[in-house]
Amino acid sequence: MDAGHARYGVFLDPRAPSDGRTVLDVSDADVPAAEVAKALIALYRAEPGLDQVMLTVGTRPIGACTRTWFARLSGEPLHRLGEGDRAGQPGVSTQFELLRFACTGCDRRAVRLTYDDRDLPSCPEHGVMELRG
Ligand SMILES: [Zn+2]
Repeated sequence: MDAGHARYGVFLDPRAPSDGRTVLDVSDADVPAAEVAKALIALYRAEPGLDQVMLTVGTRPIGACTRTWFARLSGEPLHRLGEGDRAGQPGVSTQFELLRFACTGCDRRAVRLTYDDRDLPSCPEHGVMELRG
C-alpha cells in the first residue's frame, strides 16, 4: 500500500469500474484527506449527473470514488437533484474552490485543488487539457 492508498483508500469504492472519464487529481499524498473529502462533496453537489470520480495522486490513478459510496461514507446528502430538499442542509460549504479542466478532443475531464502551470492535467489521447474555471 502506498501513501495515496494509505491516506485516501477509504474514499475508494472497491466495486467501482476503473475507467472513469472524470478525474480528481490530488497533487500528492500530503494533501489532507479532509480537503479531498471537501472537494468530492463540492464536485458531487455541483454536478448532479456525475456518479463516479477517478481519484489520482500526482496523475497516478488509485481508484474510483462513486457518489453512492461517498455519500454513505461522508454522511452528506449527496442525492441527485430532486431527490431531496437542498435548502438548509448542514455540512460543508458548496463554495469550495475547484479547478476544472477539460480535454478539447474528448469528454475526459480533470479536477484539481491547486493550479500549477508547469504541470497541467493531460488527456492520454489528446494531450494537455484546458482550464474551464
Ligand atoms: Zn481527450
